[in-house]
Amino acid sequence: MTAFATPSPDDFMAAAPKSVSGSTPWASRYAAELRRVILEHAARAPRTLQQHLGPSELGVACDRQVVGKMAALPTTNHVADPWPSIVGTACHAWAERAFDADNMRGGLLRWVTETRVSPHPDHPGTADLYDAAEQAVVDHKFLGESSMAKVRKDPPRKYVRQLLLYGLGYWKLGLPVRRVVLAAYPRTAATLDGLYVWEHAFADEQGVIVPEALAALESTFAETAHRRALADELLAGRLRIEDVAAEPDSSECYFCPFYRPQAAKDGGAGCPGTSTQGPYALPQGGAS
Ligand code: SF4
Repeated sequence: MTAFATPSPDDFMAAAPKSVSGSTPWASRYAAELRRVILEHAARAPRTLQQHLGPSELGVACDRQVVGKMAALPTTNHVADPWPSIVGTACHAWAERAFDADNMRGGLLRWVTETRVSPHPDHPGTADLYDAAEQAVVDHKFLGESSMAKVRKDPPRKYVRQLLLYGLGYWKLGLPVRRVVLAAYPRTAATLDGLYVWEHAFADEQGVIVPEALAALESTFAETAHRRALADELLAGRLRIEDVAAEPDSSECYFCPFYRPQAAKDGGAGCPGTSTQGPYALPQGGAS
């Protein structure tokens, strides 16, 4: 499988949990037990259980994924491994402590960590970091190699929209936000040398949001209202999820809760993503 290729059904199933190994049969069984505890805890983590969508989810390009989440449709993707997100959550907690400690060392409240913001009344979220010295809203991303490469080339729309929403959240709190910053840390590298920062202007010195950021935010709000209306239609039984426009994306589908490439073959529940057959395979069609 190439770095950004959507997995084929066979690749997808090959990614299903395999038996873990150990030096003896007992050790192998014990490895499985350790993994069970970690996976069960991950499945009950607040982020996994949350029903409302936060800023990190609103900017996803695929209507079908977001509408399905808004309608709380059952998950069909039971293969995506939570390990990258477990590591990411642990790194976020570590970063929070690091920036809080820097405040203590510097004797100044420069960094504001893990703060609840409400850029959209129905979609609040927790922003990683605000830098009072630089008047910047920062989002930490702990990324694997292929995602790092993607961010260096052109950050995904969902990351940019998420950042702008966090910027708006802080702006609504009355704090100056000159820029939003994506801090991409190489999760799988041996050193931090690959740390990459991407920035986008948010507001000028007078606190006026710059046109490009404003246009992206207005587009996100309009898109969210439209998706909410589609989710309501779905819940009322007047629309089927397969009639909602899909935008298969090689780096998005694998982690989508509704991804199930076998649906293209067996006609069962789930979205086949980039597959071209099956009941959900209407990438260009449907309600949008
Ligand atoms: S699997 Fe891909 S195309 Fe289907 S709903 Fe999820 S993100 Fe959209």
